[in-house]
Parts: sequence; C-alpha cells; structure tokens
Amino acid sequence: MTNPRPFIIFGSPIIEDDEIREVVASMESGWLGTGPKVARFEQDFAAYKGASHVAAVNSCTAALHLSMLAAGLQPGDEVITTPLTFCASVNAIIHAGLTPVLADIDPVTMNIDPNQVEARITPHTQAILPVHFAGRPCDMDGLRSIAKQHQLKIIEDCAHAIETEYKGQKAGTIGDFGCFSFYVTKNIITGEGGMVLARQEEDLARVKMLALHGMSKDAWKRFSDDGYKHYQVIECGFKYNMMDLQAAIGIHQLRRVEAYWQRRQTIWQTYNQAFGDLPITLPADPEPETRHGYHLYTLLIDEAQTGIGRDAFLDAMTQRRIGVGVHYLSIPEHPYYQQTFGWRPDDYPHAMRIGRQTVSMPLSPKLSDEDVEYVREAVHSILRCICT
Ligand SMILES: *Cc1c(COP(=O)(O)O)cnc(C)c1O
Repeated sequence: MTNPRPFIIFGSPIIEDDEIREVVASMESGWLGTGPKVARFEQDFAAYKGASHVAAVNSCTAALHLSMLAAGLQPGDEVITTPLTFCASVNAIIHAGLTPVLADIDPVTMNIDPNQVEARITPHTQAILPVHFAGRPCDMDGLRSIAKQHQLKIIEDCAHAIETEYKGQKAGTIGDFGCFSFYVTKNIITGEGGMVLARQEEDLARVKMLALHGMSKDAWKRFSDDGYKHYQVIECGFKYNMMDLQAAIGIHQLRRVEAYWQRRQTIWQTYNQAFGDLPITLPADPEPETRHGYHLYTLLIDEAQTGIGRDAFLDAMTQRRIGVGVHYLSIPEHPYYQQTFGWRPDDYPHAMRIGRQTVSMPLSPKLSDEDVEYVREAVHSILRCICT
C-alpha cells in the first residue's frame, strides 16, 4: 500500500529552530512566567506597529475584554460589532458586562457596514468593535466619523490583521484600542497569546493592572530580580498575563512576519488565477491605499451556481486530505445568542448568506508550491465533476 498524501492542516504554523532554541533557553533558565522575554516581545511588537503603549496578554479574547473595561464602558452600555466574526468578539463584550448589538456587513468587503452601524445606534451605544475580517481593513473613515459624532470608543479586533494598514495607518493604532491574537492559526503565533495596543498611556496602564489581578503597577516588578516588592490590589482583576515561554516563540515569529505575509500574498494571487474561471465568488481585491493582511482566502460556494452545497464541498476537500475552514457561520446562527438576545440569522442577511456559503482555503506560508497546485486541482475536480 502506498502512503496517503500527508493531510494539509488548515492554518498550520511554521516553527523554526530559533523559537525552539529560545523556548529551551527559557526552560533552562527556569524563568517560564512573565519576564524579560515578554518585555522584549512587547518592545518588538510596538516597534513593528509604530505604537507606544502595548501590553502582552494570554489571548486576543483577554485583550478585547480588558480593552472594554479600560475604555471605561459601564454595565448595560451597548457595543456594536459584526455578525461575521469569531464568537470571542461577542463573548468578550458580554464578559465585560456590556450589551452586544450586531450591524450587518457589506457583502463585498465582508466587513461591518458603517451605514448599518449608524442605524443601530441608541442612547446606550458607547463603542464600536470592528473586526478587520480576513485581514482586510474596515472602512475606518466611515466608522471614525460615526464614533466622533456620537462620542463612541473604537476597539479594533485585529486578530486577522497584524500586517493590515488603512490609508497609511496600521491596524490597531486607528481606534482607541487594538487587540491582536497569536493563536496557532493566526499570522504569527505564540501558541496562545494576545496583545493590546492603546492610544492613551493611562488606558494601557489600566489594561496592565487588570491583566494581573488588579495589582498596582509595581507588581510587575515582582518579575525581576530587584528584590521583594509589596503590591496593592486596586481592582478585582484577571489572570491574563503572557508567559516568557510564549514570548520566546513570538520574538522569532515576529521577525518573519513580513516574509510570511509575502508568501501568503503569492498563494492568494495564485488562487485568484487558478479559480477565476469557476462559477464561485472569489474574495474582493484589496482596496487602494490599504494593505490587506491576507489572513483568510475565502471562496463562496452558491449551490444554485455550482450544483454542490458548501458543506458537501467541505467534505469533498477533506476527503482529498485538504484541511479547510469556515469563517464564520454568522453569530445569530448559534443557539446561545438566539436564546439570550433573540437574534435571528435573517435579520443580518449578508452575514447569514456568506456564513452559509463560505469556505476558507489553506493559506499557511508552510504550503509548498506543490501543495498549492494540489489544492487547485482538487477544487477544479470537485467543481468540474458537478458543473459540467
Ligand atoms: C482568533 C480570533 C479571536 C480570539 O483570539 P484568541 O487569541 O484565540 O483569544 C478574536 N477575534 C477574531 C476575529 C478571531 O479570529
């Protein structure tokens, strides 16, 4: 029997010797928790983003939660976000004691539509939480002008958008807060991990305090060899700090962030050429004056056009040993939100349709040219045997 082709794992990260050695060095030093490597990763990330106030945390979910608390939002305040996102964006709003409100997306960009945001504003609205979906920047001019008019905070969910830029500004530095993820499938990884960027220094100080039990700023000095420091608990905080073990990976991943981006851009362009003549919808081209993060390459499979449904297409890809993703079934498809907020998918028709048609192709920089060619052939063979 011949060995089957290795499965193409969706979103598989590249892990090189540098980060392996750095993790081992942390182990050998005995310093596993928050320490000098976290400080270095924060400095390096701040330099990459051109930001002054950054804090590493243990996930983007934590970053979003702390940002909303540090923004001074109060229980009952409403936060408007997109229905086409990972559940964490909405759960973080709920955990912060706030009320999530959805505004439908633009069907071409798949990002939150500022007109829909405007339509959902009430006297309780205090913030907008845009997600730069797939790495494509949101219409930040539109959102900023709404925020200015209604005095709303903007918390950017940049989980897909480390490299993303909008009219010369880097994603995460446009709003009041920017929240990043280094989860294993993201553009750079630390295993689990996240980062907060804050425009205001005092906001970042509150994020840091809340990330470590609500202990006074000096508590972070416990993570040095300066000797014992008393600390004071000022608020009831959380345990959201990043470990040196995680930062050890991130430091080396960040050095390759641009090389990985280049590789994903090449794969993206190859897919565009490969799939252009098929009866499916390809992702919209990046907009002028922006930089796309190329985090996800999403095809839309419309059964009326292709003769095959999205879920059957997912199965056919998996059978060919290609890992695919769905980003995302729209938020109102999930029972918890239906039961708690009474949301219905067809109240957000663009997110509903895209959530039911979308398939994310493998886009990891780990893919070889041969893998990409194999994906091309698989998509053609699945759609050809059905459409012709
Ligand atoms: C991955 C992701 C998150 C959560 O990131 P974690 O680091 O896993 O907490 C939040 N929002 C979006 C859009 C994501 O894709």
